[in-house]
Amino acid sequence: MKFIFGPVASRRFGTSLGIDLSPNSKQCNFDCLYCELAPAPTVSAYTKVYSPQEIVNELEISLKAHPNTEVITLTANGEPSLYPHLNELIKKIDLIKGTKQTLILTNSATLSSTNTYQSLLALNQVKLSLDAVSLDVFTKIDRPHKDIDLSKLISSLISFSKEYKGRLFIEVLFVKGINDTNEEVKQLNKVLEEVQCERIDLGTIDRPPAYSIEGISYQELFEISHKFNPGLPIHIASRKDVKSKPSNYTNEEIINTLDKRPLTMLDVEILFNMDSIKRLYRLIKDKNVLIKTISNIDFYIPSSNLYRKRIK
Ligand code: SF4
Repeated sequence: MKFIFGPVASRRFGTSLGIDLSPNSKQCNFDCLYCELAPAPTVSAYTKVYSPQEIVNELEISLKAHPNTEVITLTANGEPSLYPHLNELIKKIDLIKGTKQTLILTNSATLSSTNTYQSLLALNQVKLSLDAVSLDVFTKIDRPHKDIDLSKLISSLISFSKEYKGRLFIEVLFVKGINDTNEEVKQLNKVLEEVQCERIDLGTIDRPPAYSIEGISYQELFEISHKFNPGLPIHIASRKDVKSKPSNYTNEEIINTLDKRPLTMLDVEILFNMDSIKRLYRLIKDKNVLIKTISNIDFYIPSSNLYRKRIK
C-alpha cells in the first residue's frame, strides 16, 4: 500500500485508517520546530500529486480488510489540505465509506482559500491546529511559507468553526519558551473564545522534533489549562514528563477544581491521592459530580456546572 496505513487506535478519534496524500516526500506550507519529519523548505503547492482514483482504489481494499474502521483520516508527510484534488477525493471517499467518518488533520493555513474551506465543510470531522496567534510567536514555532497571512488564517478558522456542521477539534501544541508565555496564552484564549468546537486539545512534543527544542511537562500543561476561560472545552492531550506527586483534595477542592477545568480519569490518577479518588467516587455516587463524555473522552464535571451556560 502506498497511501493507506493503519488501522491505528486513537484514544481521541477512534480506530482510524490513514491516507497519506504525500507518501514520498515532505510537502508542507509550514516547517514547524516540533515536526516529527525532517526539516524541509516550505511549499505553497504539491509538486508530486497522485490521482484521487489511485488513492480510493487502495482505500477500498483496506476498508474490506478492516471493516471495524471508524474513521478515515486524511493526513500526509506534510500538509494534506495542499492536495489539489481534495474536493474530488472526498466525494469519492463518501461513495464508498458507508457509515465511517472522514477526518482531516490540518495546520489550518489553507482555510483562507475558498476551495479548501469548502472542501473541509464536506468532512465529518476536522482537526485544526493553532499554535500561536501573535505573528512573532507563530513565525517562530510554525515557520510558515511566506505567502501565509496569520490574520486571514485566524479569521477563516473562526468563520469555519461557526459554519461547520461536523465535529470540530482544535489542537494547540506547546513548545518550552516559545508559545507557553502568559501573554501568548492570553491571546490564544481570546481567539479560542470566538471558536465553536467540540474539544480543544492542549499537547506538547511527544516524538523527536525536527529542531532542537523542548516540550513542557504535564504539570506545566495543567497550569496553562487554567489560564483559559473555564467555559472552553479544554482537554490535556499529552502526558509528557508526568511526575506522579498526587495531592490531597477535600470535597470542596475537588468540586472547585472540576468546576474550573473538567478532568479525565487519567488526569485524576496523576493529580489525586487515593483518599481524594475515594472522595471523588463518593461525590459521583451522591450525584454531585457527573461523568460527561465529550467526543470519546470521559470528563468529571460538577453537576452544578451543567446548569450554567458553557461556551460550546
Ligand atoms: S504542519 Fe505538520 S507536517 Fe507541516 S511542518 Fe508542521 S508538524 Fe510538520
